[in-house]
Amino acid sequence: MTSRFIAALLAAAAAPLAAQAPAPPPPVAVDPAVAALRDDAAANDHYAWDITEGLTTEVGQRLAGTEAEARARAWSVAKLRAMGFTNVRVDGFPVTTPVRGAESAEILAPFPQKLVVNGLGGSGFTGPEGVTGEVIGFDSVDSLRLAPDEAVRGKIVFIDHRMAPTQDGSGYGQFGAPRRAGPTVASLKGALALVIRSIGTDRDRMPHVGVMEFQGGARPIPVGALSVPDAEQVERILKRGQPVTMRLRIQGQRVTGVSGNVIAELTGRDPALAPVLVACHLDSWDLGTGAIDDAAGCGIVAAAAKRIMDRGRPLRTIRIVWFGAEEIGLFGGVDYQKRYGTQPHHAIAESDFGADRIWRVNSKLGPARREEAKRLAAALAPLGILTGSFDAAEGSDIGAMIAAGVPAVGLSQDGTRYFDLHHTANDTLDKVDPVQLRQNVAAWTTLLAVLAGPVKRPLGKSRRRR
Ligand code: ZN
Ligand code: ZN
Repeated sequence: MTSRFIAALLAAAAAPLAAQAPAPPPPVAVDPAVAALRDDAAANDHYAWDITEGLTTEVGQRLAGTEAEARARAWSVAKLRAMGFTNVRVDGFPVTTPVRGAESAEILAPFPQKLVVNGLGGSGFTGPEGVTGEVIGFDSVDSLRLAPDEAVRGKIVFIDHRMAPTQDGSGYGQFGAPRRAGPTVASLKGALALVIRSIGTDRDRMPHVGVMEFQGGARPIPVGALSVPDAEQVERILKRGQPVTMRLRIQGQRVTGVSGNVIAELTGRDPALAPVLVACHLDSWDLGTGAIDDAAGCGIVAAAAKRIMDRGRPLRTIRIVWFGAEEIGLFGGVDYQKRYGTQPHHAIAESDFGADRIWRVNSKLGPARREEAKRLAAALAPLGILTGSFDAAEGSDIGAMIAAGVPAVGLSQDGTRYFDLHHTANDTLDKVDPVQLRQNVAAWTTLLAVLAGPVKRPLGKSRRRR
């Protein structure tokens, strides 16, 4: 999930607060065939784990535009073909990506010691000697904005801004400002460099990275994220009241490469009908193996489509899109919209918030399709999924298409521990809970069973083992 996703996330998070006041269960009957698909997935799915485990083990980290992301695409094409999907292809596009070099931070005075830091995507780079300067601390970007330029010029700015975990992840929007706005504000004030407290909710000594950009003509300066314990250490040192000197080294380079969207389909019984698109993003940051962000999302949506395939063919085509280059700026979503955005889509949805259980369904299918939205909500309710808004949906890569009016569904995952792991070296397979992963697959299978229409086995084909 990138910073540009925030507005949509906040809007989606805000809307259902009112709607959460005890809504009676929708008085809508659930098709027994849909219920059977749902319950079978909840009890038995192994496809999502198989994909998540395979991608994170056999490819590992998949930074957009690098050869690792290219290997991930090759892996994905082979996997999706082996699972029986058709029209498996890659839509490629060029990207420029920041590739990390050597990074370090240390306090030189008054208490010399090393800190744990990682550069943010889009940071300016230092030479091997780094930059050395006096540290000036702020508790928020707003405090930095209020500071006189003379106080900041030539210094290393430190922004400390605590973030609390929330189920809907809304803290990311509220507390992400140091990463999103901080670099530009610091640069325009003449700062030498910027270090921020990681946008994370854990106590591990691991920085949270993410993308940022300099806006309004701000010149690039080095920008690093300190782990939460290291940020608190800097805060304590600053409170001692003596001048604090830091050396910060953020080396790296911007590399021009190729990214791409991996697309696969389960062709519907009536291919002329608008497809249902389910998505995730294939790329990851370069520190962990991108298990919760977002290999699990790719596993979830492909598993759901495969479970439909195992029962036959739905009325509408199901299109799986594993977007490329989400993390560095939603470039896969931009490319897809450019190529296919004017074609009708029956609905679009994206899984990109980890692998913990889904607790709410939002949808934005339009007033004429309220009955369909209610059938979906009713079919999801037995999984413990609340009905949220009928006029909101969210998604990172698909956000621009939702904004353009394409019908969409948002299945909200529990984000309570998402920002413990998000964009850190700790985002690895062992954090994925197989039971909650199956609940996700059950919800997405339900989504497809309702929206893609009745699943029927082609005549003359023998019934396969389930
Ligand atoms: Zn993501
Ligand atoms: Zn992300």
